Amino acid sequence: MMICFLGSDIFRGSVYGKGHPLNIARVWPVIDICQALGWIEDGEYRSIAPARPEALQLFHTADYVQALQEAEAEQRLCYQKMQRHRIGLDNNPIFAQIYRRPATAAAASMHGANLLLAGDMQTVFNPAGGTHHGMPDRANGFCFVNDPALAILTLLEGGASRVAYIDIDAHHADGVEAHLSSDPRVKLWSVHEENRWPRTGLAGDTGGGQARNFPLARGAGNTALLEILNQHILPDIRQFSPEFIVLQAGCDGLIDDPQSGLAYTNKGYWQAIEQILALHLPALVLGGGGYNPFTTARAWAGIWGLIKGKNPYQTKANEGVHAILSSLEWQHRRARTIPVHWTEQLFDEML
Ligand SMILES: [Zn+2]
Repeated sequence: MMICFLGSDIFRGSVYGKGHPLNIARVWPVIDICQALGWIEDGEYRSIAPARPEALQLFHTADYVQALQEAEAEQRLCYQKMQRHRIGLDNNPIFAQIYRRPATAAAASMHGANLLLAGDMQTVFNPAGGTHHGMPDRANGFCFVNDPALAILTLLEGGASRVAYIDIDAHHADGVEAHLSSDPRVKLWSVHEENRWPRTGLAGDTGGGQARNFPLARGAGNTALLEILNQHILPDIRQFSPEFIVLQAGCDGLIDDPQSGLAYTNKGYWQAIEQILALHLPALVLGGGGYNPFTTARAWAGIWGLIKGKNPYQTKANEGVHAILSSLEWQHRRARTIPVHWTEQLFDEML
């Protein structure tokens, strides 16, 4: 099968610091769960090295990339650079791998784009990607490098003439929209919660170009998500007839996630992704938001299951998966009592 799972050991261990919403394990549990389920066959997993600074300049400014490298080397930045690039401010902390970690996620997204361009792969999964808030000259919303934008730009540089970007994260894809919605070769669709940071992406707002935004009210669940997909996004995509799909599959709209008021279960979330994959177009599938480690690991392992043709809707944890899920740590009031489905099965609902 022409599918590929991109990762790196750099994503093992948490780094963002105590109290930060991203101070949780996200990528390695997905890899380990898929392996424990026997869902990763020989040759399907590829380990990725960090992108070189010049590669990131396809989207980011040279000054910004240099500031990230300096912050990693020195573990500090001068006041002017912090202010300009928002590094070490606004919940974008300086940490040990502040350059290498996001540069690895970005390298994976760009590598995935190149695999699709070459026709070597039909579907590429990069759960470390999806950092859609990053801006060319500054960090934004926990995102240091905008890997979805870099992937789209890689596809365009490689000759693509129609790229579809779909974003189902609970937050609006402001960084991607701001810099790519005016390119006639790109169309963007974002479903997100209304009145939620960054508060852009209002209904009817085209981002000055070809973006379509679908804000959902607090409490919206599977029905709302699937309705928008079926009534608006999929018909639009069929009309646009893209050569490539970049899907940001942030899972912070799931009901057990603490960073949004949306209420999808992973059944609706997977159904949405399954319908996008059923377009049978070369697709790069990225992670994104996801702030409950139990929910995120299960949701994203399920995505790889869908890509593999497995059935996550009925997948129960075997001994290995149970051990991985039970080992996750989460300093959050929602983790005081761990619901059974967080460690016993991939799916949310009882069968
Ligand atoms: Zn988000």
